[in-house]
Amino acid sequence: MKSKLYQVSTMKALMMGDYFGGITIKEVLMKADVGLGTYEDLDGEAILYKGKAYSFRADGKNYPANLNDKLAFFSGAKMDIRAKKEPIVFNTYANLKKQLLSHIDKNYFYLIVLEGRFTLKTRTCPKQKKPYKPLYQVAEEQVTFDYQDVDGVVLGFYCPEYFDGINLKGFHFHFLSSDLNKGGHILKISSKKCTFRISKLNNYQLRLPQDNLFNKMNLMKDLTSETKKTEG
Ligand SMILES: [Zn+2]
Repeated sequence: MKSKLYQVSTMKALMMGDYFGGITIKEVLMKADVGLGTYEDLDGEAILYKGKAYSFRADGKNYPANLNDKLAFFSGAKMDIRAKKEPIVFNTYANLKKQLLSHIDKNYFYLIVLEGRFTLKTRTCPKQKKPYKPLYQVAEEQVTFDYQDVDGVVLGFYCPEYFDGINLKGFHFHFLSSDLNKGGHILKISSKKCTFRISKLNNYQLRLPQDNLFNKMNLMKDLTSETKKTEG
């Protein structure tokens, strides 16, 4: 099915430190050809683009993922090739979000892909060891990168507010440069030259983690401010 958001684990489980790998890249590729997330042990920001997966790690390098690498959290979809490319210019992340919102019915999921030249700040987190610390503590160790006028793709999702805690409400974007050397979770972004494609996702599938930590978590805990601080 094309118009489906396929998700692995929940945002709150990730926030609370469930970095166990729940699914392999090989399995995910059967469900999605584009997507984003994070790997087992939080070892790199994940981006899946055109059926290939990459891991942008704390050393500032982007690595092609192996089919057996595992993801701890993932949102993915199948790209709708009929989605029209339209030009867009924005000087802040807030402005990009504002413009995209005018194309969105707020109670649905959307896949958004931007292609062009970007100036941006991204982040990634260092690889974690067990027992895992919560993500809002790990985020203090996050590594950031500033890129000026880099060609590449920005890929992400819009999730409705009522999915808060299950996924990240609102927008979530990752970057992959055309030369495949740069990437990360986007904190700031602007572009004078790019196009965007947006496709509505009417269906949703959630694969819950199978690990024991998830089984014991209190997932009713309110982590609104921690999530805002960590994911931006
Ligand atoms: Zn991210």
